[in-house]
Amino acid sequence: MSRKPPEHDVDESELVVSKPKEWAAGLPGVAVSLKRSVEQMGVGRTVRSLKVLNQHNGVDCPGCAWPEAQGHRKLAEFCENGAKAIAEEATRRRVDREFFARHGIAELAGKSDYWLGQQGRITEPMVLRRGETHYSPISWDGAFEIIAEQLNGLASPDEAIFYTSGRTSNEAAFLYQLFCRGYGTNNLPDCSNMCHESSGAALKETIGIGKGSVSLEDVESADLLIVVGQNPGTNHPRMLSSLEVAKKRGARVVAVNPLPEAGLLRFKNPQNISGLVGRGTALSDEFCQIKLGGDLAFFQALGHLVLAAEDAAPGAVLDRAFIDAHTHGFDAYVEQVRDLDWDAVDAATGVPREQIAEVSRMLVDSKRTIICWAMGLTQHKHSVPTIREIVNVLLLRGMIGKPGAGVCPVRGHSNVQGDRTMGIWEKMPEEFMSALEQEFSISVPRRHGYDTVDSLRAMRDGRASVFFAMGGNFVSATPDTKLTERALSSCALTVNVSTKLNRSHVVPGEISLVLPTLGRTERDVQQSGEQFVSVEDSMSVVHSSRGRNAPASEHLLSEIAIVARMARKVLGAEHPIPWEDFESDYDRVRDRIERVVPGFANYNERVRDKDGFVLPHPPRDSREFRTTTGKANFTANTFEAPHIPEGRLLLQTLRSHDQFNTTIYGLDDRYRGVKDARRVVFVNPDDLTELGVADGAAVDLVSEWAGDEDRTAERFRVVAYPTARGCAAAYFPEANALVPLDSTAEISNTPTSKSIVIRLVPRS
Ligand code: SF4
Repeated sequence: MSRKPPEHDVDESELVVSKPKEWAAGLPGVAVSLKRSVEQMGVGRTVRSLKVLNQHNGVDCPGCAWPEAQGHRKLAEFCENGAKAIAEEATRRRVDREFFARHGIAELAGKSDYWLGQQGRITEPMVLRRGETHYSPISWDGAFEIIAEQLNGLASPDEAIFYTSGRTSNEAAFLYQLFCRGYGTNNLPDCSNMCHESSGAALKETIGIGKGSVSLEDVESADLLIVVGQNPGTNHPRMLSSLEVAKKRGARVVAVNPLPEAGLLRFKNPQNISGLVGRGTALSDEFCQIKLGGDLAFFQALGHLVLAAEDAAPGAVLDRAFIDAHTHGFDAYVEQVRDLDWDAVDAATGVPREQIAEVSRMLVDSKRTIICWAMGLTQHKHSVPTIREIVNVLLLRGMIGKPGAGVCPVRGHSNVQGDRTMGIWEKMPEEFMSALEQEFSISVPRRHGYDTVDSLRAMRDGRASVFFAMGGNFVSATPDTKLTERALSSCALTVNVSTKLNRSHVVPGEISLVLPTLGRTERDVQQSGEQFVSVEDSMSVVHSSRGRNAPASEHLLSEIAIVARMARKVLGAEHPIPWEDFESDYDRVRDRIERVVPGFANYNERVRDKDGFVLPHPPRDSREFRTTTGKANFTANTFEAPHIPEGRLLLQTLRSHDQFNTTIYGLDDRYRGVKDARRVVFVNPDDLTELGVADGAAVDLVSEWAGDEDRTAERFRVVAYPTARGCAAAYFPEANALVPLDSTAEISNTPTSKSIVIRLVPRS
């Protein structure tokens, strides 16, 4: 189906940009939280919904995966973005059959992501067949029959793709992967493929487990925190509270980022009066404004300087006992970083040598160092080697497996880590697969499935024709938007399990199903009574989430019920897995998880503890490294700076402060001074002068990729902004169109959304 580009909600030609903020949260954060909540939910529902958010036995925030404190919880245990996430889900607005009768698919396809998201909760299953102009209602049974007919009609189960978003609970994720493997495929791409896949790959290789090694207590008791490629003020706001605690205990904080984000500079904690009306807490002791893609060189330089400090004071800097007892590959690493090309480091990082030297002195002085990172590190060609270099620096000083120290990849979506633990991965290890077979008396395929990029290639090339999404907004989350849309449109069937309308619903296959599901905030009552689900946060804490609101419609099913009913229809009533039991009582799902997934002993009992329980993490718990060498691995990584031809910029995609992943809450980016606009590109003023482009100019963004055709994102406004030289930034999903599908990180296959070569083309 060809369609015109989405309409705009605003006219960026009127754009007025104010000075970027130098602090985060404070009174404006509280005011915006309340305004958005009351607009969507009204006063009573706002109070009821926020009162239980992140509280014991309450609702786990569907936003990011930052953990809650163990023990005592504050009255308001959430941030501005948590409140916005709840407002979006618990909204009183409805997208019902009358809505779909009023708005045809052509009209909906022309609406912006913001408009689509603002229409409210979907109330019943809907179907659209090619040639029809409007979605129409369908019964749940009818929907499952279509799915069964399509799946059972495929030549191979590998022609179907089953995507998962990071909101899906442990219980739903476990059943979903069980269904997919029982059906016969490992095609289980997820949103992790686009975020922390690089972290998982690097950490698995170097420390034996692809998860962070620190707890909230560690963060708050560290004496040095290096926060790299991360904007916690917008993406994990309550992390600022933990940084504040650490600062007050005397920690030093180093921020390494291309943009001077407000949340990295100063925090006004809205939980206390001094935060609301005072100056707040200065967070960063050093702000290293690094160029995009320069982090690998930065950490190699730090390793080089730490080794030089050891040379100057032998025995005083390195943790020799740790290195000798617990690591492998030290000599090869030393050989690699001793021979450092400082000119190349200067060119790649743009960070003054004196400042890198100062950070290395902090490292040498520190007794407890934590390095945190997010997408700024994981979405480059060399992301995996970059994260390996972080591990190298920590290993030099024995900073893994001791209190207040370690690696901290901060996850962006509430259960993205748990979904992987539950088996949402296209290449789960043999132990997991054989445990599944033994537990359920089924056979599961061993062929690796497709990740997100390979799924898109398979759909594009006609090797896959059924696409099923358990949550998320695949079209807006993925790179190369036009290619993604073509790939989905070519499918025989697209299915989206969703709470709200999004762009993926308006890019239908020959048949498109929209299946509405319960939100986290809603009561989930099944045959055995009221249910709860569980999730795993960024620090491996598993805990429960129980909704309290009445469901948005009587026709909604939980994700677990959707999987169970679909499985019965697709696999037949004789299938050995007791899907009906699982749907009626989620304890029975947890009983099975306990027998398949290590670390979940007494799951049903421990998840009922008010703080939940912590999963085992061998490096953190006992300095046990389950790598190929049986030790923590130093690695020698070669460094290659991104090549940016003259007259071009390196672009990163990022979020505005008014969005969470692909959900657009509003059109302001308060911290960066942007109001009522999304199609903006932030460029350093000196770069603009060199390029001869004026601040405020109207431009198209054109990306260039290895002899491939250019990709264009049209109608952007230039905003002069203090980004690092040569580095530009624009919001996703608008700028996703510029990310070539084949531009991915080595090893992890993550799209390189943080390093896209572009040119600015003035519009006439
Ligand atoms: S920090 Fe993350 S998990 Fe916590 S309330 Fe905010 S968005 Fe939700």
